[in-house]
Amino acid sequence: MTDALTKFANEGIGKTLTTKLGLPRPALLRRYKDGQDLIEGQAAVGAIGSGMVAKSATAIIKASGADVVAAQADSTYADKLAAVVFDASAARGLDDLEQLRGALGPALKALGKNGRLVVIGTPPAELTDPEAAATQQALEGITRSLGKEMRAGGTANLLWVALEAQGDSAVLAAPLRFFLSSRSAYVSGQPVLVREGEVPDVDDWHKPLLGETAVITGAARGIGAEIAKVFARAGAKVIAVDIPAAGDSLSKVANNIGATALQLDVTAADAGERIAAAVAQQGGGLDIIVHNAGITRDKLFVNTDEARWGSVLNVNLQSQFRINKVLLDPKVKGGLKDGGRIIGVASISGIGGNRGQSNYAASKAGVIGMVRSLSQELAARRITVNAVAPGFIETEMTAKIPVATREVGRRLNSLLQGGQPIDVGEAIAFFAEPGSAGVTGQVLRVCGQSQLGA
Ligand code: NAD
Repeated sequence: MTDALTKFANEGIGKTLTTKLGLPRPALLRRYKDGQDLIEGQAAVGAIGSGMVAKSATAIIKASGADVVAAQADSTYADKLAAVVFDASAARGLDDLEQLRGALGPALKALGKNGRLVVIGTPPAELTDPEAAATQQALEGITRSLGKEMRAGGTANLLWVALEAQGDSAVLAAPLRFFLSSRSAYVSGQPVLVREGEVPDVDDWHKPLLGETAVITGAARGIGAEIAKVFARAGAKVIAVDIPAAGDSLSKVANNIGATALQLDVTAADAGERIAAAVAQQGGGLDIIVHNAGITRDKLFVNTDEARWGSVLNVNLQSQFRINKVLLDPKVKGGLKDGGRIIGVASISGIGGNRGQSNYAASKAGVIGMVRSLSQELAARRITVNAVAPGFIETEMTAKIPVATREVGRRLNSLLQGGQPIDVGEAIAFFAEPGSAGVTGQVLRVCGQSQLGA
């Protein structure tokens, strides 16, 4: 579902016109296809200092079959680069950043279409020296700025690798691979924190969820249906949940991917018990729950009545508390296993607020609050809790927005286009992977680096 302008600007006369007039052209984004190589072409890896994380990154990229060359100030590149990784985790003073500037300049000039930049840093909160913390925090400003300077579908993202995890390449692999791959086509300018975690060996990076049971709510259409497809592609046994009124489309989605359909209103008092029963019927426990079901009832705050207020908070947030409570009870058959995954769907409205959406923004900001708190509570059980915060995604929900507002929402981001539901599905699948054991309490924006909600 490529939008009309993106199509026009990339074909025939439209392409010629936008080139001649120097108009910004939304790029056709490379998206993941089953079995696709991690990157198409070679990667350049550079570092400040000894580059402990850079060594892990090099090994991870080489294991995918791609070539790695050095990214240094004097490097010249005979071929276009597909990706650049720069390990700045050892930078402790502002002068160190000159090494990053010198090395990244030539590498970024050589970066090809849909190129990837991943900067690696140390979480500033872990450093006591103010200049060291400032130097590391500077990486966020640099990465976010480079996201806005990337061309032709390129993205720039930042991995904060906790000091305790810097020698551990297993914990780095899934997050690094996500940011390097085309699964993160619509994620740019975003930081993700990686901590220590128990990461199992990954046999097949194309089927990371093989044999896992996942429940996805709101799966009859839009983003939820796409999450279900991505999970099935990744090897998961999916239980797709939606309201009885959406039963027909829910069955279609489920049948297409060999999933089980469960007609259920997530606000029902016994929703958690019914989900657990459906899981138990398949045998075994639950590995992943994705709380995607959501509604909007937009009105200016002063015109928002109790029903609009309450229904949005109930569907988008309260239901998750009730369901999680049941699924997290170790006595419940079909409940969430230790080492499992809880993934919420927030929104950039919940980060930046949105006119006419105080109820929706409350619910989505609440999802973020829940993720941060619950991730700490469940760390001892190795259950990770994360959320995605989508920006403008092309779905039936956003198709209802008046045309002028819609066009603004769609273009006001570094990639100059709306995201596709699959982009949200890919980000959620990344959180769900066993390899993401070191990633918890994170909120990842899938928004093309939108200026809205900033
Ligand atoms: P959508 O309206 O197309 O789909 C939502 C699905 O949730 C529907 O199938 C609906 O029947 C189901 N649902 C609603 N209430 C339910 C309930 N009580 N019980 C069970 N299922 C229920 O919306 P979408 O655009 O696919 O959005 C999916 C999620 O992503 C929502 O949480 C939404 O808030 C969030 N989101 C969407 C966008 C966007 O641009 N589309 C942006 C940010 C966040």
